[in-house]
Amino acid sequence: MTRSCCLLSGGMVLAVCLPGLGQTSNAPLVEDVFGRRLDAEHALVLVDWEGYLANPAMEIVIGPPEGAALPARAVLSAAEPRLYFNLPSQAGPHGPHKEIAIGEHGRRSVLVSIFPDRDGEDEVHELKLEWHDSTGVSWSLQLPIHVVDQDRSEGSGFPAMVDFSHDQTGFFEDDMRRRVVIQAMQDWMYFLDGTGLDPIAAGAEQTFIWNPDGFINGKHVANATEYTGFLLYVYGIQGVELRSGGEPSRAGGFQSVGGKQLPLRRSGGVEVETRGNYNELGWLVSLDDAEWWRATNLRDVPNDLYSIVHHEMGHALFSNAGYPLFRRAKERGVLEDERVAEYLGAAPRIDRSEHFPGTVDPASRRGAFGNEYHGEMPRGRWLITKADLLLAQAVGHRLRPTSAFAPLTIETDSLPAARKGEPYRVRLRASGGIPFYDWELASGQDTLPPGFQLDAYSGELHGVAGENGRFEFRVRVRDYNRQAAAQEKKFLLHVQE
Ligand SMILES: [Zn+2]
Repeated sequence: MTRSCCLLSGGMVLAVCLPGLGQTSNAPLVEDVFGRRLDAEHALVLVDWEGYLANPAMEIVIGPPEGAALPARAVLSAAEPRLYFNLPSQAGPHGPHKEIAIGEHGRRSVLVSIFPDRDGEDEVHELKLEWHDSTGVSWSLQLPIHVVDQDRSEGSGFPAMVDFSHDQTGFFEDDMRRRVVIQAMQDWMYFLDGTGLDPIAAGAEQTFIWNPDGFINGKHVANATEYTGFLLYVYGIQGVELRSGGEPSRAGGFQSVGGKQLPLRRSGGVEVETRGNYNELGWLVSLDDAEWWRATNLRDVPNDLYSIVHHEMGHALFSNAGYPLFRRAKERGVLEDERVAEYLGAAPRIDRSEHFPGTVDPASRRGAFGNEYHGEMPRGRWLITKADLLLAQAVGHRLRPTSAFAPLTIETDSLPAARKGEPYRVRLRASGGIPFYDWELASGQDTLPPGFQLDAYSGELHGVAGENGRFEFRVRVRDYNRQAAAQEKKFLLHVQE
């Protein structure tokens, strides 16, 4: 395994580069948040959370190879278009690219993340780091990236119906446009719990439908058939403002479970300006995850239908004064909720447009609902963030227990006995949190059987026990989320003949 290589400069080899000798120390340094070195054997771990959600941004620290002169220039790249770095950086069809000027301090932190996909497959990619020092010497490092994919095929979430029958513009005669809308709705509903909702009788729910000329006049319609869950009318408009919209029905009723009313609406609408979003450049109609970077949603490109429809659905589902808890928060100008404040560190502001200006999702570092043009990551297709889901919960939704909310847990309960003089190898298992773990012995190395080690990266307990006995020790694991508490567990290991 080659971890480093030295390039020729001016026809001379300027750094010693012997196979098998000093390779680790002679490569640029990459460390994780626990201060551990990442290299060919210890991959950078990224997570693709369950559901179509903005994934955590993982911080790494890069530093100079031994003997490199400062200042220097570092170039990070990867070949996978779904990977991205924090700004300033570029994302695109050939993967992300980031250049960093390294000053005298020599170390810089970088955020790495991956745009979600819809399969449950783990992935392996490669991060390339080139280091060019001020005397013209270069080093490079290829670091494996392991993506833990937590998508699951089961679980449908809150039931929903999308009704295109009030589209008078012809915009939704196109099958792909309808597919994008239905997918965006399923993506939201996957995270919401609709267990036990009472059915809504035919004709019982009233919803306002705007006329095709935009937000001027309209009419009320009633649901033609009985349904359970959320009924969303999606249709085209051509208004003077070139603006799309989304809202719950204030003329309708509230959801209930076993006759008990919830503060949740039963229907709503999403209106799509057919010519484009604040422009007349039309729409990018795509569900290709590898094309996420095309969807800048700025005025100089066709806007991304998924992004805008997803956003307007957010208004229809929770971010609107038609929801009583949202209305109260909007009147105060901030949304006060314990779980939201715990996650964000403060109560988020709400503005007149029913957006959350200034709110950046702490895990993904992307702008939260209504703040999508901000955050620390490259502009691209808008996604549901963990913050958005907690905001929806604060307005009255129940969240399904998806992986982004799973608490850190040590799964292993007991250890098989070891035999004196024989090799032992058992991997401790953890789950939950952001699953990039750091293991350590809370009770100290001398509580393990002599000759045993606990691998900090993998949780593997291994060694050859030299003496019989009962060994009691405590193991501690931390996940990538540094705000979360570490977990500890006591283990008993018997070593016998
Ligand atoms: Zn909005």
